[in-house]
Amino acid sequence: MSKQTQPTRSEPELSTAADWNALYIDGKWHGPGDRGTLDVTDPSTREVWTEVPAGTEDDVDEAYAAAKRAQESWAEKGPDRRAELVQTVLALLDEYEADLLELLVTESGSSQIKSDLELDTARGIVGEAASFPTRMSGDIRESVMEGKEHLVKREPAGVVAVIPPWNFPFHLSVRAVAPAVATGNGVVIKPATDTPVTSGLAIARLFELAGAPPGLVNVVPGKGSEIGDRVAGHPDVDVVAFTGSTEVGRHVAKQAVDTLAFPALELGGNGPNVVLEDADLDNALSAGAFGTFAHQGQVCISINRHLVHEDIYDEYVAGMVEKAEMIPAGSVHEASSIVGPIINEGQRDQILDYVEDTVEQGATLETGGDTVPVDGVDDSLVVEPTVLSDVDNDMTAACNEHFGPVAPIVPVSSDEEAIELANATEYGLAASVFSGDRNRAEDIADAIDAGMVHINDQPINDEPHVPFGGMKASGLGRYNGEYILEEMTETKWISVQREQRNYPM
Ligand code: NAP
Ligand code: MG
Repeated sequence: MSKQTQPTRSEPELSTAADWNALYIDGKWHGPGDRGTLDVTDPSTREVWTEVPAGTEDDVDEAYAAAKRAQESWAEKGPDRRAELVQTVLALLDEYEADLLELLVTESGSSQIKSDLELDTARGIVGEAASFPTRMSGDIRESVMEGKEHLVKREPAGVVAVIPPWNFPFHLSVRAVAPAVATGNGVVIKPATDTPVTSGLAIARLFELAGAPPGLVNVVPGKGSEIGDRVAGHPDVDVVAFTGSTEVGRHVAKQAVDTLAFPALELGGNGPNVVLEDADLDNALSAGAFGTFAHQGQVCISINRHLVHEDIYDEYVAGMVEKAEMIPAGSVHEASSIVGPIINEGQRDQILDYVEDTVEQGATLETGGDTVPVDGVDDSLVVEPTVLSDVDNDMTAACNEHFGPVAPIVPVSSDEEAIELANATEYGLAASVFSGDRNRAEDIADAIDAGMVHINDQPINDEPHVPFGGMKASGLGRYNGEYILEEMTETKWISVQREQRNYPM
């Protein structure tokens, strides 16, 4: 490497006290050398707890070269060896559970409940991916030509770029890395800058501990605005697995398409939660509160707005206020906190601005709308669970993905109106419908243009074998099960002419 310094360590460990100030390329940890560094902040305390190197475009090139080299021999390995590596990573998730949970709490402001949920979801997809090596099956087809036979085979795509966000940093990175490796690909991760350890470096360390060949998984921390184009548009990339905002995703997709890589895109959402007058109200409120306030609303599949039938509107608003005011909010280093800090100041200010704008537009602030003080922190990032009533679907907090602990509640007078408002967004990721009448709910679910619709449950659901992804501006492709297996592989047709053909020349 042009700017290489001595590898900083060979003994990997996974705690917050470990030295994370390194890039991981070709099986070696490289300190920052003469590169700049990026501070990594604990959003609860707002203290810098580590720093990481700001990788360069040269580093990205080195990472791709390593991934390409490693991939060629990795793809030759039998399915048993590839499954074994992924199974070993799965076992390490248990062995290092306490460290990984501490990293998630510290780096991403995740409550204990959310950290547990995230690690469990990650376990699920790693376990699923361990079955991929023996599921890369093909097909034999008859030919319309006499004496010919067709073989349809699956091959690894090659090198997969993984560009994750900061909200479920570990799971959303691993859900691409594990399937990629299992199906015989090399990987280059450009982690999210707010969470470079949990969305990248810690994953590299797990694969290192598991005995992955050098170069198979590489991590180059660095700002998307500086090295992102090189990552997404690299001549050696075959699949760009991006999870993040629609705005950045559109740009990333252009880089990928320009180099003719496949863009696997999981983008933003604006989840509608439809609550009909025949719903079980207690259930709808508990679920609705969880779907809104879990991880401070920083979930792509959160409920972004509640579309509630006018007959139960007042009761629903009162119930949601009661829930919001009950939820313990504060530093996630307190085990009791359920709502923790917003990831950074910019995101927090945007949420508070959205609430303020919505009130100016005529909505009623029922509760919340401010920050929660945290001991020893000057300017807390914890936002109060907030409920807004008398909201129109086109008010700021309803029509934008607010990504905060905010419940804008919009009254609706019919199923048709609920459907129309649910679909009045460029997004189509997740949605939910509450009703006592399954057929009625299913009709609405069918009519909502979203990749995932949940009946009588809130939308924060992700299972390793069920297709996860969005319609409209929420993305391209699907994660999990055979859906991601297909995206990480190429289909190849081989024909065999068994008997000589008669050609006219
Ligand atoms: P983001 O700002 O779009 O960033 C996502 C990733 O893209 C980060 O790693 C970022 O790096 C990187 N990036 C930025 N500019 C880039 C460029 N020019 N080229 C390549 N990469 C670039 O999203 P976020 O703020 O992290 O996450 C929140 C968004 O993600 C929300 O919209 C949410 O709905 C969406 N999301 C979707 C899903 C899903 O499954 N559909 C899941 C979770 C989140 P830096 O950190 O260095 O900027
Ligand atoms: Mg962002």
